[in-house]
Amino acid sequence: MKKQIIPVARGDGIGPEIMDASLEVLLEAGARIEPLFIDIGERVYLAGNTAGITDESWEAIRQHKVFFKSPITTPQGGGFKSLNVTVRKMLGLYANVRPSVSYHPHVPIKHPAIDVVIIRENEEDLYAGIEHQQTPEVVQCLKLISRPGCERIVRYAFEYARAYGRKKVTCMTKDNIMKLTDGLFHQVFNEIAQEYPDLEHEHWIIDIGAAKLADTPDLFDVVVMPNLYGDIVSDILGQIAGSVGLAPGANIGDDYAMFEAIHGSAPRHGGKGIANPSGLLLSGVMMLLHIDQSDVAERVHNAWLKTLEDHVWTYDLVRKGKAHGIDNYREVGTSDFAKAVIARLGQRPVELKAVTYAGRTAKIAKPKLTDVRRQQMALDGVDVFLREGKATATELGQALERLAGPEFVLTMISNRGQKVYPGGFPETFTTDHWRCRFKAGGSQPTHGAIRQLLGRLEQQGYEWIKLENLYLLEGKRAYSLGQGE
Ligand code: NAD
Repeated sequence: MKKQIIPVARGDGIGPEIMDASLEVLLEAGARIEPLFIDIGERVYLAGNTAGITDESWEAIRQHKVFFKSPITTPQGGGFKSLNVTVRKMLGLYANVRPSVSYHPHVPIKHPAIDVVIIRENEEDLYAGIEHQQTPEVVQCLKLISRPGCERIVRYAFEYARAYGRKKVTCMTKDNIMKLTDGLFHQVFNEIAQEYPDLEHEHWIIDIGAAKLADTPDLFDVVVMPNLYGDIVSDILGQIAGSVGLAPGANIGDDYAMFEAIHGSAPRHGGKGIANPSGLLLSGVMMLLHIDQSDVAERVHNAWLKTLEDHVWTYDLVRKGKAHGIDNYREVGTSDFAKAVIARLGQRPVELKAVTYAGRTAKIAKPKLTDVRRQQMALDGVDVFLREGKATATELGQALERLAGPEFVLTMISNRGQKVYPGGFPETFTTDHWRCRFKAGGSQPTHGAIRQLLGRLEQQGYEWIKLENLYLLEGKRAYSLGQGE
């Protein structure tokens, strides 16, 4: 059978050791892959390439589409872009899949029964990285959530659950506060859930949901979340499930995929041959599933479970075991751990749950997306953000009321989201950053009318720092209200 060429980055720190060990196991198990080693990471950064990846490496990834990556070291100091973020965004890897499994009692942990897959949106949210200093006192980070972004990740979560025989998909957001952004994510989740009547679905507010997940992980199955929550929660879960050295990850897009452990390059341990290759090896298992080699994936995963069960442990697990009074283990380095897994190929665990992957794949056909681009948007007013360091809320409000007309009326001013005019309290703390809401004063607002308003503000010496147009989408208000509006 033809072998699939896989671009492989051996990475930095512990990267080369764990990659060599993982590839040895995958190839011994009969993986039909041919590694194509590519250059990325610290050496590339330090050679003056601020992205950390050469053109040839990009070419190899784009040609072969599936990328197996060891952790890399991002050099200290400014100017170096995060390679992970660059690769995810450039290749449209919108789904970050992070399974967390406990291996109790062989890896002692507080929660014996964790088997949760976090599916984290990977491209949007606050991670768009759009930040601005708006006034001397205030900086802003834009939280961007798109309908196609929500649809792709939510559908992926349901398809993943179905492909892997999972029962329930849970969504976590903070839509009681962020009604539009997180609200859209939740709404899309509810819409798409209707297409999967065979799967349970539920929604939790992220704060209590995350607390529940940390306390009773056995109540959860597949959990889908916007980027920031998913980043935080998956690390917490990885940590409570055992060692960071055990946790794999996949970054999946419509056309490309990247597989890597969730941990970093642990430079202090690099070159010693002691690191645990399990996270990367299990990422390799996810990769084999992605390229339809579920037979090999199952062989590797079950041999690995048997190795763990036989207490053949790298130092991180030894440390954990000792702390729990377990002393019947064999401590091995990275390469001997790989050899121990190879020696168990064909075996299945006895106490830990064996995996069955026949025919399973999480590869999702390109999701169909709802076309909302032709929806009607009508201007309904404008929020003008002003820098103003001297006036009180009342002084500012009275002055702006005089400047609003004839096209607009001032309906409110807020400071850091708190309404301060009309009807504010003088005790409310304010900064030099004011949001001033102007609504139509009778006629339909126009962009020209907004420009005239800005002209009047400028003439009176007001520094407007940003505008947000207020729209009705298909006749419905599409902006948040200030209190009391
Ligand atoms: P880290 O995950 O590399 O290491 C933290 C600690 O976890 C280590 O000191 C070690 O005790 C333990 N550990 C991690 N992996 C292990 C393994 N396989 N086996 C045994 N123990 C393991 O985090 P860090 O020290 O914050 O970051 C080090 C470097 O890694 C930084 O340059 C960072 O930018 C980079 N990093 C890269 C990636 C990536 O490439 N995907 C991800 C995170 C961090």
